[in-house]
Amino acid sequence: MDFETLIRDVPDFPRPGILFKDITPLLGHGAGFAAAIRHMAEPWRAAGIEVVAGIEARGFILGAALARELGAGFVPIRKPGKLPGRTLGADYALEYGSDRLEVHADAVASGTRVLLVDDVLATGGTLAASRRLVEGVGADLAGAMVLIELAALRGRERWSDTVPLRALLRY
Ligand code: AMP
Repeated sequence: MDFETLIRDVPDFPRPGILFKDITPLLGHGAGFAAAIRHMAEPWRAAGIEVVAGIEARGFILGAALARELGAGFVPIRKPGKLPGRTLGADYALEYGSDRLEVHADAVASGTRVLLVDDVLATGGTLAASRRLVEGVGADLAGAMVLIELAALRGRERWSDTVPLRALLRY
C-alpha cells in the first residue's frame, strides 16, 4: 500500500509558507488507514507498550488506533483547559506559533511503558514538550512514533538518541 498517495500537500495552510501535510485522505481510506496503523505498530510490538499517549488532535486519531493495535491503553495530551483533573503543563514553540500542552497528573502509574504518538514531526517542539509531560508524570518512555517526519525542519535534533523516535514516512 502506497501511503504517500493518501497524504495531501496543502500549500500555505494554515499560514503562508507552510506546506501542510493533510492526512484526512489516509484516514478516510479503510485499507490505507488500517495498513498505516499496522506499519506504525510494527517496531513496537515487542516493546512492552502499556499506554499510548496521543497528542491533540491528530495524535488522538492515530494514537487511539495504535493503542488498540498494541493492546495498550490511551492517554490524551491536550491543549490547555480541556482536561478536568489536576494537570501537568508544558509550554512549547511550534512551526506556526506557540502553544501549551497538558496531561493529567495521575494519567499513568509510575514506571508505565509509554509510546508517544503524533501525525507530523516538524520542528520537534510538540514532541519534546510531550516527552517532558509523560516523563514528568513518571512514565518510562519507550519511544515516539510519528506518521510523517519533515526532515528538513530537523525536529529530530530536539530529541535525544537514548529514546527511539521513528517515522513511517520521511519528506
Ligand atoms: P512541531 O512542534 O514543529 O514539530 O509541529 C508538530 C505539530 O504541528 C504536530 O502536532 C503536527 O500536527 C503539526 N504540524 C506542524 N507542521 C505541520 C505540517 N507541515 N503539516 C501538518 N501538520 C503540521
